[in-house]
Amino acid sequence: MSGPGLAPLRTMRRATAGSWTSPAAWTQMPRGLSCPERSAPRECRREGGSMDQKAQASAGPSADERSAMNEAIDRALRAARESGKSGIAATVLKAGKVVATGENEVHLQCDPTQHAEMVAITRAAQVLGTTDLTGCVLISTLQPCEMCLSAFRFARMERVIFAATQAKVPEKYFAFPHLRLDDFQRGTNFTFVAGVGEELVLHLYATGDE
Ligand SMILES: [Zn+2]
Repeated sequence: MSGPGLAPLRTMRRATAGSWTSPAAWTQMPRGLSCPERSAPRECRREGGSMDQKAQASAGPSADERSAMNEAIDRALRAARESGKSGIAATVLKAGKVVATGENEVHLQCDPTQHAEMVAITRAAQVLGTTDLTGCVLISTLQPCEMCLSAFRFARMERVIFAATQAKVPEKYFAFPHLRLDDFQRGTNFTFVAGVGEELVLHLYATGDE
């Protein structure tokens, strides 16, 4: 699943229009597709720049994961332009296909839980008709916060790819700065790839908007 060179990325994070769309519009794949076996050992990897996470053996993003990140970055940049705030976008993949997407809707919905990752995870569960998202991959333009990582784990997801890393964004994006990704990995096969396209999105988060 290792991908070749990364194509140029563009970025962002945050909410797009708050209009309701049918689940069918969220998915690009039919129900019932099987997930690939996910038996790889936990791994983490940092692309470009430095990162204070423990770096271990890595399996970089696949072509599908890179493509999803490119698309998420585009949505983030678009949302930031449209709203005048930072843009944060997330995607859930299954078997390399997009199941659901989401942008930050905290202010649109007046709901502090509506982070882009939460929106995407919720939609993915609805689209797939199950709360067990085993084998699905979470893509986000910003390192998921503790709430989103918890939801990720409750959904039994085991892989996350993100762009902007905690070390390079304002602290306000994280409520428990003493918790690290490693804390969420213990006892799981959860793997992550950090910093994919980070340089394209960091400016969105420089002031801590959401
Ligand atoms: Zn979050």
